[in-house]
Amino acid sequence: MTKTKYVFVTGGVTSSLGKGIISASLGRLLQARGFSVTIQKLDPYINVDPGTLNPYEHGECYVTDDGAETDLDLGHYERFLDIQTSQANNVTTGRIYQSVINKERKGDYLGKTVQVIPHITDEIKRRITLLGKSGKYDIIITEIGGTVGDIESLPYIEAVRQLRWDLGHNNTAIIHLTLVPYLNASGELKTKPTQHSVKVLLENGIQPDVLVLRTEHELTRDLRKKVALFCNVNLESVIQSIDVSTIYEVPLLMQEENLDKTVLARLNMEAKEKIHLAPWRSFVKKLKNASWEVHIALVGKYVELHDSYKSILESLVHAGALNDTKVNVTCVHSEMIIPETIAGDLEKYDGILVAPGFGDRGIDGKILAVKYARENRVPFFGICLGLQCAVIEFARNVLGYADAHSTEMSHITKHPVIDLMEEQKGVTEKGGTMRLGGYACELVENSRSYKIYKKKMIRERHRHRYEFNDDFLADFEQHGMVAAGINPESNLVEIMEQPDHPWFVGTQFHPEYNSTVLNPHPLFVSFVKAALDHAE
Ligand code: GLN
Repeated sequence: MTKTKYVFVTGGVTSSLGKGIISASLGRLLQARGFSVTIQKLDPYINVDPGTLNPYEHGECYVTDDGAETDLDLGHYERFLDIQTSQANNVTTGRIYQSVINKERKGDYLGKTVQVIPHITDEIKRRITLLGKSGKYDIIITEIGGTVGDIESLPYIEAVRQLRWDLGHNNTAIIHLTLVPYLNASGELKTKPTQHSVKVLLENGIQPDVLVLRTEHELTRDLRKKVALFCNVNLESVIQSIDVSTIYEVPLLMQEENLDKTVLARLNMEAKEKIHLAPWRSFVKKLKNASWEVHIALVGKYVELHDSYKSILESLVHAGALNDTKVNVTCVHSEMIIPETIAGDLEKYDGILVAPGFGDRGIDGKILAVKYARENRVPFFGICLGLQCAVIEFARNVLGYADAHSTEMSHITKHPVIDLMEEQKGVTEKGGTMRLGGYACELVENSRSYKIYKKKMIRERHRHRYEFNDDFLADFEQHGMVAAGINPESNLVEIMEQPDHPWFVGTQFHPEYNSTVLNPHPLFVSFVKAALDHAE
């Protein structure tokens, strides 16, 4: 069994500096040097998981294969490292407290007063080291959500301070990510916020080993020296993270800055001279020098915040690079789609993707967008609620059931073409109770999906309560919309297609959770290809 080493990534000055991308980039580099790596995220909010959060709060809810509803950073980890994460890779304050309180109720604390230190911090430490117990990983990177100095983050920082002693200083490294702002008026980069942020860490008993400085302008050697001097680190440990046009360049920049070697030295680990980054480099090259271009409309209702559709947007980037095509995505607000203006609004797109979602708001616009794509033979991709909208549209406008709907939106419809799943009928609690995670799906031979996946059995991730109502399947199939994928155990319809349309596929699952840089998802690749054909 290998002795697992731990890297912690904290953030200072402001949120949204990209700790997730830095963690994922470091993970990628360490992997490229031959180490087995995973990444976990600790989130300081009190929700047990982000499944109950509106996408406007923290962006998309990412779903792991084992059915955890997690922070979107886990999506970055999987996309960068081409690994699968799990329930254990995302821990929230809510979950920590839930475990401690459950233990208290069972009497496990034997009459003691239950306190933040040691009981909450012990539970945090237990969770942090859980993945290491498998012996599968050489290095585990732990990203600590929030910003140092926040009240919410304090127990996590304290747990990391203690863990340094428990695990030994040579087995842990702490990376602190901060911002070096540029003051336009004086034309200067400022290090003071970084100095203060490191002071806050020091007050909490933690000396960071490496500082990663987010900046809009190149950092001079003098500025780096100053940071090193004030923050007790050596010059090589002051790393620049300059703004770039794509997040996929960050691993390459971090390598130029020797982030991987610096961390490995801190961990007393031998850095192999050879680094295997050729496939990654070639991906970035293709991404930045694409020969073709397509325009895709992403129709959804959380469009004000692009993070709401993070995995879909990234899957389109992966698929674009593979097709030598720049994919321009415009998020179109479904509430703005109305019959009077739809033609003008959608005619400029080579493909239409209707996004997942919940509830009634914006549903009419989504159904109109499907109708437009179907009638005008524009490549159409419907994901989860997007598939459900396609089913409703077909029932209303082709089968002639004017009141067809999903029972999520209408209880009185006589044509419930989308209906609550049997296993959902008794469910009253909201958290973690949907059909979640990976399920098998058998593809119908000679369907478009079968030709795209090039195999019969696939496994994809789900997050929904409603499903296609089988009572209507024969009717649909007779009129040109067919089931192309079925769950072999439950018989649930997972994919619907229109074979007479150039490219019309709706999936009840979320293929976007399975696309990585090195393995772009076949459905997205094929959809972008179809959009390209349409553009030509
Ligand atoms: N609201 C729909 C359901 O629960 C679709 C969910 C989704 O798009 N993720 O079935």
